[in-house]
Amino acid sequence: MGNSRALVLFSGGQDSTTTLAWALDRFDAVETIGFDYGQRHRIEMECRMTIRAKLPALSARYAERLGPDHVVDLKALGAISETALTRETEIAFTDAGLPSTFVPGRNLIFLTFAAALAYRRDLKHIVLGVCETDYSGYPDCRDDTIKAMQVSLSLGLDRRLVLHTPLMWRDKAQTFALARAIGGQALLDLVIEDSHSCYLGDRTTRHGWGYGCGHCPACDLRSQGFAAYLAVPDDSGLDL
Ligand code: ZN
Repeated sequence: MGNSRALVLFSGGQDSTTTLAWALDRFDAVETIGFDYGQRHRIEMECRMTIRAKLPALSARYAERLGPDHVVDLKALGAISETALTRETEIAFTDAGLPSTFVPGRNLIFLTFAAALAYRRDLKHIVLGVCETDYSGYPDCRDDTIKAMQVSLSLGLDRRLVLHTPLMWRDKAQTFALARAIGGQALLDLVIEDSHSCYLGDRTTRHGWGYGCGHCPACDLRSQGFAAYLAVPDDSGLDL
């Protein structure tokens, strides 16, 4: 199938952890990229290293295929986020469920950096865990946005890049089911224990669905998704 080398945008969250396993299942070589853009994400940065360290033990194929990690310093993006934070004086959530620290167009910036790295590393496929189903408030997570970016980046680099979004049409319950379908209970357990979603960075309170404050929009999504998954945990016949 030609170039079967992929770069996964890996933040250490539930979605990108599941996406990384999805990529390890189908590409011969998989590298990861993460973005360091502020203190709030320090815990996510630690979680992603833990997950990368544990994945090879789950499968010989994962061990063989998981390649280098790349962390890009995007402090300038964090500065924009901080400006919003200062204005709001506290973290608030908009009607769309977005934190006030949300940076408009963040995924566009991430994808551009990822594409530059993919070019240099000869990685044809870029895989990201964006989802239109749960986060309708994030316009840069939409299917059309990603498709437009694929065209823009391929043209701008004069090299064919293929963007994959395996979670685009799945809700959180289906994402839990996908993790189990890909890597069995061991992968699902890894997602629950080591991936991080909470906006407030809480890793002291352990729930059935993992660590988090239990109150922010990210925790709400994750806990409700897990409850829905448990209600119908059958992943047989799931389209991978
Ligand atoms: Zn939370």
